[in-house]
Amino acid sequence: SLTIGIVGLPNVGKSTMFNALTRNNVLAENYPFATIEPNTGVVPLPDKRLPVLAELVHTEKIVPATVTFVDIAGIVKGASEGEGLGNKFLANIREADAICEVVRAFEDDDIVHVNGHVDPADDIDTINTELILADLQTIDNALPKLEKDLRGKKIEPSYMEAVQKAKEILESGRTIDQAAQAGEIDKNDIADLHLLTAKPFIYVFNVDDAELTNEEFKKKLADSVAPAPAIFLNAQFEAELTELDEADAREMLEDAGLSESGLDQLARVGFDILGLQTFLTAGEKEVRAWQIHKGWTAPQAAGVIHTDFEKGFIKAEVVSYDDFVAADGSMAKIKEEGKLRLEGKDYVMQDGDITEFKFNV
Ligand code: GDP
Repeated sequence: SLTIGIVGLPNVGKSTMFNALTRNNVLAENYPFATIEPNTGVVPLPDKRLPVLAELVHTEKIVPATVTFVDIAGIVKGASEGEGLGNKFLANIREADAICEVVRAFEDDDIVHVNGHVDPADDIDTINTELILADLQTIDNALPKLEKDLRGKKIEPSYMEAVQKAKEILESGRTIDQAAQAGEIDKNDIADLHLLTAKPFIYVFNVDDAELTNEEFKKKLADSVAPAPAIFLNAQFEAELTELDEADAREMLEDAGLSESGLDQLARVGFDILGLQTFLTAGEKEVRAWQIHKGWTAPQAAGVIHTDFEKGFIKAEVVSYDDFVAADGSMAKIKEEGKLRLEGKDYVMQDGDITEFKFNV
């Protein structure tokens, strides 16, 4: 499954955040036979629709979609030079599908900052520079063969142009993700290079409690990384939240003026930048959110439930979440009101589709 790699300078709160994330671990509950690496956290995708559906169809069992985080230790200045830890660090990032950068924005004189002072922009620059340098090396290593292939007409000139363009972007100190969001380059054109900075980025600012509701403070930081998404949380506060039961956690959030925990926001935004979405199934046995890629068709979605469903796909019976709730979950009423849609093999799944697949075996 797709993973989000957590990176950041030392002492910014990564472990605190990651430990809080893994305390939310859902794997044990729903996938008892799965083995899971110690540096991996599989957390539920928050979805307020699931308990509503469970009540309507009278089931206790809810299976949410999941988001997988991997704690990637050891970014240091010079990582791109590939010494020891640096090498392993880059290899681990290469395996992740998105990058979550944790940045210290909290003040605490007792906790040493590696660069001597708290400066979020400078920290981001330090990390991104290492990733950019690593990508430049990847390109420089690839170029001699690409030039030969170009002369031998094994690759298109347009591919070489895209590689050169990527090189220029990196040399200007920007990530491919940033440039792609600005429309300067199409990531698909250089996908073969597997560049680190072509992965989608999320920034997590670890801030003091007091700043969690300070919109001006947050806006400045968010603007500094836009259009990449920014999440604001206090890692220690998040850790405390995970120790409480649901009602107490809700109360603690409300007292802090928040409607959702930072980790829940992170899971939602992470799921989104991975290019994933869900469709839903609701029956007496269970209510479940299934994860698929955005843009997938009905047969592809059916294949996530069972490969036979994809091979033998006939049609999908689909009702939107809103229509399902409006009809109190009564299929008779949904049909009567013409809200049950029959969709064929070209149908592109929409988020919140409650679906039943019909198939040949
Ligand atoms: P890592 O090196 O990035 O994994 O950072 P840690 O999670 O180990 O945190 C480093 C130190 O900062 C620990 O003593 C944490 O308790 C502390 N810390 C983490 N998050 C916060 C925070 O939001 N506020 C304050 N004041 N301290 C924090």
